[in-house]
Amino acid sequence: MLAAAHALRAGIASGELYDAPVQPDEVDEDGVSSAREGRLLVRLALHRERDRGLRNRKIQQVRRLNEPIRCEACAFDFGATYGPLGADYIEVHHITPLHVVGPSETRPEDLALLCANCHRMCHRNYMGEAWRTPDDLRENIRAAARHAASPAS
Ligand SMILES: [Zn+2]
Ligand SMILES: [Zn+2]
Repeated sequence: MLAAAHALRAGIASGELYDAPVQPDEVDEDGVSSAREGRLLVRLALHRERDRGLRNRKIQQVRRLNEPIRCEACAFDFGATYGPLGADYIEVHHITPLHVVGPSETRPEDLALLCANCHRMCHRNYMGEAWRTPDDLRENIRAAARHAASPAS
């Protein structure tokens, strides 16, 4: 909590939080006021993730490795599904929460490629957490698939 507060103060001091528009999922779902700080950190993260230069560097890095531009959690490929309309569309997500790394320079290695659905799920406020990595989310997807296969377990 202390680290989160520190990251928040730094974000506010740098002005980064002010021009980040409210995200649709910031609407209070559960009425828990302690979720407020988490939402502000998410807003700071989403704002940083909109940095076009950083996003482009990440995509170039993936291309150089000859890897597909697709979601690292569910493998959704916008180009494969939507054709030219979706070609090269992808969202980027901080792998390490900002309340752990603090306000620092983000490198392409710090970012993951995600589809819009998985990105929302990574930032959804659930069970006191509003930050997941693609690995975390893949585990959620696997668990849900296991449950669907045998609902009794
Ligand atoms: Zn996905
Ligand atoms: Zn994100």
